[in-house]
Order: sequence, then structure tokens, then C-alpha cells
Amino acid sequence: MNTLIKDAYVILPDGGTQKADIAIEGNLIKAVGEIPHEFKGERIIDGKDKLAAPGFVNGHTHASMTLLRSYADDMALMDWLQNRIWPVEDRMTEEDLYWGAMLAAVEMIKSGTTAFADMYGPYMDAVAKVVMESGLRAVLSRGIVALAPGASEKLEDGVRLYREYHGAANGRITVMLAPHSLYTCPPEFLEKVAGKAKELGAEIHIHMSETEVEVKDCIKNYGKRPFAHVESTGLFENGTLAAHCVWLEEEDMEIIRKHDIRVVHNPGSNLKLASGVAPVQRLLKEGICVGLGTDGASSNNNLDMLEEVRLAALLSKVETMDPKALPAFQALQMGTEFSARAVGLKDVGRLEAGCKADIVLYSMQGPEWHPRHNLVSLLAYSANSGAVDTVLVDGQVLMEKKRLCTIDEEKVCFEAERSVKRLTEG
Ligand SMILES: [Zn+2]
Repeated sequence: MNTLIKDAYVILPDGGTQKADIAIEGNLIKAVGEIPHEFKGERIIDGKDKLAAPGFVNGHTHASMTLLRSYADDMALMDWLQNRIWPVEDRMTEEDLYWGAMLAAVEMIKSGTTAFADMYGPYMDAVAKVVMESGLRAVLSRGIVALAPGASEKLEDGVRLYREYHGAANGRITVMLAPHSLYTCPPEFLEKVAGKAKELGAEIHIHMSETEVEVKDCIKNYGKRPFAHVESTGLFENGTLAAHCVWLEEEDMEIIRKHDIRVVHNPGSNLKLASGVAPVQRLLKEGICVGLGTDGASSNNNLDMLEEVRLAALLSKVETMDPKALPAFQALQMGTEFSARAVGLKDVGRLEAGCKADIVLYSMQGPEWHPRHNLVSLLAYSANSGAVDTVLVDGQVLMEKKRLCTIDEEKVCFEAERSVKRLTEG
């Protein structure tokens, strides 16, 4: 179906804004501004008093962890994982994962996210089902903790996921392989994953240099810093999305540059788990692609990318003691265009002809949207995601005038609560 968004203020790929129409043909943006005469919009969306922006791409999350939101907070990472998170995750069924991911889908659409890179498992088929039903776009991966039993089977499951779903749902689903981290996967296992990735042509999604302890332990155990250690396993040969990258030295950055590794910054999670502050400004200056993610909802505690945009900008300024660091538009780009590139989506994250029609309309109502000196500044620094009004992915309307079109929100909240009750009350 062809769609015409009329009279919206549009955030352009260069950071400028313009009052314009957007023509959508099938799943692609056909034109922004000058609409060809012959174009007939079968569906018209009124963009008056709305700001059109590319949908956010959540570059690193564990969608079904919404089920563990508010279950365990204010703990150290390993204590939190080993004693609270992993025991409950061990009990999760395919149905639980489905409702957890559905709850995430509701939250993501309502806060203006149109694509997400997910690392979780088992039962990633349940997350794929959510992607298909909700209409979202996703980069799925079966997370593998190889130190737990069944590492080979988990890798085989990840390979199966790739074979079954890479390019599925009209290309809305792509798949990566995901060894969880170097501290949960021994080097021989990373080599095995690297071999499989090469065989399939699959990219890698992995947690890297998240905490200082991880770096220190890596040096103690392997005599190398994390990036040098993982590089020696061959894992970086086929394209890599590296989540976190908080603790970096010059030699790590060299390896990141050499293999064109894309970094995903998770400021909310890094702050909450007291992991540290990633050197985002330095990475960007080095020409490294840095996207944004929320991480799982249990360490954030939401999936609201607009919050991450603002946190990234503010953190970058205080980290460098430079208020000019990470200006509003660049922070927004990190959540959209850069995140898209980080997760391997090339024609996503910009509102221009030829790109996928993944578009969010923000309703510019309320005092926080006045005065309107600079619309990009208003979105990055002043607005909140409650302004999300209409969301399109691949040209399909997922939310219109704040009403979800593909998901029954009430049912999802009910079923998610039911899952959690069973999981946590034994
Ligand atoms: Zn994570």
C-alpha cells in the first residue's frame, strides 16, 4: 500500500528540519519534500504539528528480560547475574520468552523504536514470532553461555536460527551468532563460533569490555586485553557488533578500527550497574561507528531509546568536561542511523528516498515542545517518548494516534504477569 504523510516537520539526514510530505511506496520511502505528480497515496497520514524522525534502532537488548524488570536491582553485575537472573532464566519456557518479547515489543513501539538487536535464548523462535506478528524489524541472535552445559547444542541452535530466519519476514529479520562474552565462552569455543560464522557468512553479536573486572581477569587468564584476546580466536573476521566497550585503551581501539567493529553504547545499563562510562567521543572522533542500546530491561530498567539518546549526550559532555561534546543531532544519529549501521542495517535510520519506511511521528503538543527554536534540540533534550504518536515499519502502520495496530497491549501485560508469577513463585 502507498502512504502519504502530509505536512509534517521532517528531520533530514543532515540534521536540518523541513516542513514536507513523505511518500511511501511499499516498504520504502519514495520521496521527501518534492512528491512526484504521479504518486497516489492510498492512505493519508496527517502530519500536521508532528515531527517525523527515523525510528530508533535499539542496538543491544535482551527483549524477554522485560519479565525480570524490577525483580532484582541495585546489585553487582556478577552477583545479579549468578544469584538472581540466571536461576529464573533457567526456568523460562518458550511461552515465557514469547510474552516477555511481546511486552518488549509493546514498549518499543510505544517509545518510537522500530528495530532491535536481540541476544537471548533458548527459544529464539518465540522472539522471531513476536517480530513477525508485531511488524517490528529485528536482528536476532541466540546468546550462548558456553561455560554452562550444552555449549555445542546452543551453537547448533544459533546456526539453525540463522538458516531458518536470516532474511525472513520480508527481510525484517536478520540473524547473527552470539557468544555471550569472553568470560562465559572459553577461547576454543570462540574459535568454533568464528569457524561457523565464516561458513555461514554470519556476523557476531557479543558483549565486550563491559566492566573493569572483565578486563583485569582477561589479562590475568590470557595475558592479553579483551580485544587482543578475542581477535586471536578469529571471531572478528566476519563483522562484529560489540556491546558496551566501556574499558578501552588505545590498543583496543586499534583492533576495533582494524576489523571495522561496530560499537553499541548502553549508557543506562552502564550507569545502573556502575560499569563505567564508555569513551564515546573518542570512538566517534576515530571514525568508529557507535550506536545506542538499552541492554535488557532488568538493568536499565526500560527500553526507551530517547532516554538513552539524552543520557549519551549528557554523559559524553561530563566525561570530556566539554559541553560541545556529542551535540543533539549526533546523539539522535547514534540512536538511529549509527545504530542501524551497527546492527548491519544499511538502508535504515534516515528519512530519504530509497531507505526503509521506518518512521516515527511525534506529536508536538505540551509545554516541552515550546518554543520551537530548534526541533532537533526539542526531541533530544526536552521531549519524552510519551509524544510518540504514529509508528511505521517497512511502510506498515504499527501504531496510529497512540493506538497499537498489531498487538493487544492489555492481553500482553496480563500474560507477561502470569508468566512472571509462575517463574518467580515456583
Ligand atoms: Zn547485554
